[in-house]
Amino acid sequence: MRPADRTPALVSRLPQVGTTIFTVMSALATEHQAVNLGQGFPDFACDPRLLDAVDAAMRAGHNQYPPMPGVPALRQAMADKVRALYGLEIDANTEITVTAGATQAILTAILAVVHPGDEVIVLEPCYDSYVPNIELAGGVVVRVPLTPGTFRPNFDAISAAITPRTRAILINSPHNPSGMVWSEAEMRRLEEILAPTDVLLISDEVYEHMVFDGQQHQSAARFPGLAGRAFIVSSFGKTYHVTGWKIGTVVAPAPLMAEFRKVHQFNVFTVNTPMQHALAAYMADPAPYLQLSDFYAAKRDRFRAGLAKTRFRLLPSQGTYFQCVDISTLAVPERDLPEADFCQWLTREIGVAAIPLSAFYGDGFDQKVVRFCFAKKDETLDEGIRRLARL
Ligand code: PMP
Ligand code: GLN
Repeated sequence: MRPADRTPALVSRLPQVGTTIFTVMSALATEHQAVNLGQGFPDFACDPRLLDAVDAAMRAGHNQYPPMPGVPALRQAMADKVRALYGLEIDANTEITVTAGATQAILTAILAVVHPGDEVIVLEPCYDSYVPNIELAGGVVVRVPLTPGTFRPNFDAISAAITPRTRAILINSPHNPSGMVWSEAEMRRLEEILAPTDVLLISDEVYEHMVFDGQQHQSAARFPGLAGRAFIVSSFGKTYHVTGWKIGTVVAPAPLMAEFRKVHQFNVFTVNTPMQHALAAYMADPAPYLQLSDFYAAKRDRFRAGLAKTRFRLLPSQGTYFQCVDISTLAVPERDLPEADFCQWLTREIGVAAIPLSAFYGDGFDQKVVRFCFAKKDETLDEGIRRLARL
């Protein structure tokens, strides 16, 4: 036994923070053998060619520290992709760094540029790591709501939130949790609003290859006025069905990247070597990421067609692998529970895990909407729908 009185008391740096909703709901799903449509991760295998490439990299001896910013071949492959898809020329030596997933990229960018007292704008609902990241940097979180109901950016509210103390704004398109995708006009509007300011942009684009119905992903890289001030964050975990690999990249202009790397090198220093070599080799074929939108659109359509036979009201899903539903149209009395309690009940009693949207708001705003993840085998989705049809 560890004597408790030997451990000094401390004041938490993150007093509001508990265990993330994704971890909580996945544990509950396992406990109750529920179909886990909560935490966002695929339940199917990645391309075996990618696994072979990791094996080959390890056997070729790529098992020691790589260069601090990442394996050059991977940085070059990403730079080539950014040029081909978004028309931005970047220097693979000075303007891209390989990170331990998007989560580390975002934290590192914030720690690199936010001084205590600086204001950072987030658009709510937002991914749950952003706010604690800003708080760890000593920044002041400025929450601007996305338009209720549509989750589209409200530019009057964004403009009004910008002050001389604003250091950065964080955006995320395609958007977790809503599945909303920013249009070209919206990105241009942001570009105009930021033009007269020194506000930096952190653009979380981890779902960049999951955009449906003929829309295009509007990367910040496409807009010179944004790319010149942006950290653009990508995640191989999402793109290649390997969320557990925790590997991503961040692209930024050289002066911003220099500051980013100062923090990165004393945070993780480097990211595991064989996966980087494997990804660099695998990226030679663009088909897997070019086909990803169609792959997920088919899953979305299957899941929506099934849900259409239930009492849930479906919200649009323009991108990501998430589908939000309104629970207030259900016939069961539990529809009146707060979203988080409803999700617990749904997991325990109906056997399907979901994520409450309230988890993406600082004040726990409850709009009777929950999020399902459809990055699942068809049989998983069908079983989830079969269970949900009881409601
Ligand atoms: N941003 C968003 C919007 C996400 O949904 C996720 C996925 N968990 C991340 C960042 C983190 O990505 P990674 O697993 O690469 O750290
Ligand atoms: N991004 C994933 C989601 O939104 C979860 C990642 C995590 O568990 N931190 O479900």
